Amino acid sequence: MLDTEKYATHQTVAFGAGLRQRATEHAAAAGATRVLILTTPHQSDLGLELAESLGPMAAGIFSKAAMHTPTDVTDEALAHLQASGADSVLAAGGGSTIGLGKALALRTGVTQIALPTTYAGSECTPILGQTENGVKTTMSDPKLRPDVVLYDAELVATLPTAMTVTSALNAMAHAVEALYAKDRTPATDALAMEGLTAFQRALPDVLANPTDLDARGATQEGAWACGTVLGQVGMALHHKLCHTLGGSLNLPHAETHAIILPHAVAYNRPAATEELAPVAAMFGAEEPGLALWNFAKSLGAPLALKDLGVAESDLDRMADLATQNPYWNPREITKPGIRALLGRAWEGAAPQA
Ligand code: NAD
Repeated sequence: MLDTEKYATHQTVAFGAGLRQRATEHAAAAGATRVLILTTPHQSDLGLELAESLGPMAAGIFSKAAMHTPTDVTDEALAHLQASGADSVLAAGGGSTIGLGKALALRTGVTQIALPTTYAGSECTPILGQTENGVKTTMSDPKLRPDVVLYDAELVATLPTAMTVTSALNAMAHAVEALYAKDRTPATDALAMEGLTAFQRALPDVLANPTDLDARGATQEGAWACGTVLGQVGMALHHKLCHTLGGSLNLPHAETHAIILPHAVAYNRPAATEELAPVAAMFGAEEPGLALWNFAKSLGAPLALKDLGVAESDLDRMADLATQNPYWNPREITKPGIRALLGRAWEGAAPQA
């Protein structure tokens, strides 16, 4: 079991199958008296189950959370929050739902309780990406970090296999980029490796038996470690590329991360050989990018941007956009280099430096 205290983040974090049934107790301990439950439309049944279990503490359910936290959805949720007299939110879902909880906390200061149902890791970070008129902006503020996070393994046991794999690779991408972050420390390195090894060990068991709650619990520990390290250091090429591709072409978040990660790692490896060596070693390989690509392939992850509907004719524009605004990266970012990377990721070819 991970020692979450060792990496203190001023959050209450608990792990355990069935933990959602103790949400009332955890909400009360955080000072909540009336709780608005948040979900996506797809997970509204989970909202109903939680409302029943919260009993009189439930102030209502808002089931319209959406990808990239559109501000018009937040406006509507805010009206519900105010009408219901809730002093806290319980965000039950993936990064989209947890993002809505953060956006409401930003506007009102409500207490946030998160019940993550994917591995994306937003519940651990003080980061919020919001979309207004199609433009996504990202901000960081300590009050955005949820106060309580309850990792219930039964909630990720319902994740379909494809999403299990892509969401896990999305989480692993946070840890991999943390290893070569400019502001990394020995503690963030250790945390990143805890997250990576948790997924590497547990994912094959999860795929063999998706309802294996011990293995699911281990992947949630990985999600916690990867999400926490995402909140502690700056990200680089991989996250910027995914942001550009996702925002400009409206691509699915986790799948885009899963496809790009091996290519971003291979690109950066010549300038971060030592930092990425533990990733290669974890897989018993020489090349960390190729090792991640082989791992993703063995899990049945999507490997090609063209399979997400990206047209080859989009790649030049994506390379332009991704190299427009300079940012820190271990290796110099060049347009031909990024165009070549995107070409391989589009085709589904093995990564190269
Ligand atoms: P998501 O929350 O968008 O969920 C995708 C779909 O899967 C939704 O329909 C959801 O209802 C469904 N789903 C979620 N869990 C499920 C489960 N257990 N079983 C069945 N269906 C389930 O996906 P995500 O990848 O978790 O989140 C992506 C969003 O989170 C993006 O907007 C991204 O920018 C954001 N994000 C933010 C941070 C941060 O630190 N701010 C970190 C990671 C991701």
